[in-house]
Amino acid sequence: MERTFIAVKPDGVQRGLCGEIMKRFEHRGFKLVAAKFVQASEDHMKKHYLDLKDKPFYAGLCKYMSAGPIFAMVWEGQNMVKLGRMMLGETNPADSKPGTIRGDLCVNIGRNIVHGSDTLENAKMEVDLWFKAEEFVTYTSCEQAWLYE
Ligand code: UDP
Ligand code: MG
Repeated sequence: MERTFIAVKPDGVQRGLCGEIMKRFEHRGFKLVAAKFVQASEDHMKKHYLDLKDKPFYAGLCKYMSAGPIFAMVWEGQNMVKLGRMMLGETNPADSKPGTIRGDLCVNIGRNIVHGSDTLENAKMEVDLWFKAEEFVTYTSCEQAWLYE
């Protein structure tokens, strides 16, 4: 099983899309293991997007991401990181296929409503950056026996 960090960005929260985005992960069969509703500081977002620090959009990105509340989640499942990214679509909504979250619900690359870890290594770093150990809930989902053989 893998874990990934998924977050509804401030524009997604303001547009009332938390439920829709969460629903897609629930319906796919993934298990929610941690979640919180938070407004991140610009410093926190600078850490989160450190690998993009030399990009021209870095400052604006960190400002946008700290401009309002975020719905932060950790989802667990088989191939979770890869499938999470596929469900998001491409970074640019214009390249995202219908059926993906970005392909269905947004239009602009700078307001693409949702974040998802891109590799297992980054997922571990992001989960650690956003959540403390005591924020995880350990439970058995009644779906597990029918989702996996
Ligand atoms: N972004 C942007 N302009 C660009 C590329 C990216 O505003 O030309 C923003 C966009 O919100 C994106 C985020 O920066 O989601 C992080 O970029 P990354 O390449 O990591 O894309 P993601 O992993 O989110 O698909
Ligand atoms: Mg990324």
